[in-house]
Amino acid sequence: MNSSRLALAAALSALTLSGCAYNETLGRNQLVIVDDASLNRQADAAWAEALRTQPVSRDAALNTRVRRVGDRIVRAAGLGDSNWEYAVFVSDSPNAFVLPSHKIGVSTGLLALVRNDDQLATVIGHEVGHVVARHGAERASSNALGGLVQGVAGEYGQTAGGLAGVFTQYGFLLRYSRRDELEADRLGVDYLAAAGFKPSEAVALWRLMAAQRQTSVPEFASTHPSDASRIAALEQYIASRGWN
Ligand SMILES: [Zn+2]
Repeated sequence: MNSSRLALAAALSALTLSGCAYNETLGRNQLVIVDDASLNRQADAAWAEALRTQPVSRDAALNTRVRRVGDRIVRAAGLGDSNWEYAVFVSDSPNAFVLPSHKIGVSTGLLALVRNDDQLATVIGHEVGHVVARHGAERASSNALGGLVQGVAGEYGQTAGGLAGVFTQYGFLLRYSRRDELEADRLGVDYLAAAGFKPSEAVALWRLMAAQRQTSVPEFASTHPSDASRIAALEQYIASRGWN
């Protein structure tokens, strides 16, 4: 190996070592090489663009409901000190997303689908779980290292229409890995329970989502856990904690 190659190899391994850290919440090592400040700036820009270009609901009751449920969840997740922003996007497809800079979007289709606040809290808990688990930073890091560039889709396997375009433009990939999704599910249920919502409604919500999915867009993503395995994992976890 010549000296410049050696230097490059050393630099890469230093990068990898400094970016790889044990995440206690997840119980695994995580590679994060992007810095939070620039990720948050990028997220804020994407959020502003989404609000500017996509149809947003001004319905006071819907917006108040999302904020009320969302704030209970972020407090339960220990992130109540910072200001979270929420928006309701007009779209029939049930969907939600989160940006690392504490912004949460939900669709009117999702609000029409959920049967109660516990189910809405399930979705928001899952999104907050992605932030606590730093999945966005982790995805961005693997992309920066030349990892698989993943397609953009809504969280729940539906095309997110115009929103997908905005996020692509800003480099945000809303597709997480199967492991990410299961981690976010589990963290979400922890927050549900801690916030006084009913954990078993998480199972009811994913069943509703599965039923809804069967009547519309077919499953296309092998990276996404199947509805059945996701529901089974959640049921097992909720039972192991003695919740209902
Ligand atoms: Zn997710």
